[in-house]
Amino acid sequence: MEITAELIAQTVAKVMAAGATKPTASGMGIFEDVDSAVTAARKAYKEYLGCSLKFRGEVVQAIRDLACVEENLRYMAEQGVAQTGMGNVPDKILKNRLAALLTPGVEELVTGAWSGDDGLTTIELSPFGVIGAITPTTNPTETIINNSIGMLAAGNAVVFSPHPRAKDLSIWLVTKINEALDAVGAPANLVTMVREPSIEHTNELMCHPEVNMLVATGGPGIVKTVLSSGKKAIGAGAGNPPVVVDETANIEKAAKDIIDGCTFDNNLPCTSEKEVIAVDSICDLLIFNMQKHGALLLTDPEVLDRLQELVIKDGHPRTEWVGKSANAILEGLGITPPPGIRCLIMEVELMHPFVQTELMMPVLPVVRAKNVDEAIDWAVICEHGNRHTGIMHSTNVNSLTRMGKLLQTTIFVKNGPSFAGIGVGGEGYICFTIAGPTGEGLTSTSTFTRKRRCVLVGGLNVR
Ligand code: NAD
Repeated sequence: MEITAELIAQTVAKVMAAGATKPTASGMGIFEDVDSAVTAARKAYKEYLGCSLKFRGEVVQAIRDLACVEENLRYMAEQGVAQTGMGNVPDKILKNRLAALLTPGVEELVTGAWSGDDGLTTIELSPFGVIGAITPTTNPTETIINNSIGMLAAGNAVVFSPHPRAKDLSIWLVTKINEALDAVGAPANLVTMVREPSIEHTNELMCHPEVNMLVATGGPGIVKTVLSSGKKAIGAGAGNPPVVVDETANIEKAAKDIIDGCTFDNNLPCTSEKEVIAVDSICDLLIFNMQKHGALLLTDPEVLDRLQELVIKDGHPRTEWVGKSANAILEGLGITPPPGIRCLIMEVELMHPFVQTELMMPVLPVVRAKNVDEAIDWAVICEHGNRHTGIMHSTNVNSLTRMGKLLQTTIFVKNGPSFAGIGVGGEGYICFTIAGPTGEGLTSTSTFTRKRRCVLVGGLNVR
């Protein structure tokens, strides 16, 4: 092969990407087959049982520190976009940083107690053992950081089954976590995965007798599969978050919040605004203000048909367009993007595929309802009973209450962008595994524990 300047440049770029941080020790936490990954995690879990809570705190801190190294944050974001073809680098840097900083740790392990004439009884939160965690392509490293911190803080070991498209980056991160844990003296292989994730390997993981709990973050297929496994399973599934805007809202703020939330990481988060239902009397004003904040209003029916053909197939978004920018989608339509466009909007009917499909891209349909009650009823239809996320812009307490009651979503954001619901600009901790179907809500350390009662009869009541 001829050594050209171009070949040298390509090789340097490849080495720079691979070595954004110091070289990783090969094999740490990475196994060729599922049984070896689970067996190693089981051994680690048993050793970890003998470690103090204080030490668990150090383990959690080691993961936080590793993930917050600036060059690691940049590497995860750049490679996340490069390998999955989804999202954007600045928002992925933010998501990973917040996963590292705002995921709860051991402080959640609060003991309950009764003491009385018959002695002392405690309720302690104990680990499950080995957890099989299936992670999505949309938040590949964010979910591994978030799950690792919560699961290890709870005293478990974890075997990850990442999406095959995020394989190389997941191997990199699991190796890095093992290096960081090794440096603080943790048992080897508290976090493992197989080198070649696949549906077959995921199924093997789910059936493995040494796996005590399954946590699936992904679409309806994988959630249904883990719930049929016969094991304790947590399902964090799909959403299609509607936003309702009524005539009592601050319309300019609502428009900005909606565009900010909808465009966050190119609309990849399962919590992001996916359709707007606006009351007729303020709908034009809302659209006008959305345009001021970077929305391009598409009105030509022929363009809308072509957009539908481009991004939807058989009722599902086409993967190649998931998490792409508005500009890329416009270019896909053969339209030169005007400057400053963040999102494509269009006015459509309630049952339009743009409204009813979880698109996960900055294509945001607007539906006009005659009044707030109709808007709320339609939001319920759009949410498909996922019980995931809903957003409302209103200052009418009765309407906010009605929406919350009827929608029954795990997250309900009022008068803010959707990401406020996961602790970004809203109160509360961050979470990338939002368990609507199984009801645990925004999972964290205590979710990954078993409650155990410990009874000492006739003593230690000192009152
Ligand atoms: P996906 O369902 O295609 O994949 C998720 C994971 O499941 C991957 O690791 C994949 O390899 C695995 N998987 C999928 N089907 C499987 C099967 N039949 N057997 C074994 N393994 C299987 O989802 P995705 O495209 O990676 O992520 C996007 C979806 O996840 C969206 O629907 C989004 O709403 C949802 N999501 C939900 C949350 C949440 O917290 N509720 C978070 C992120 C993403």
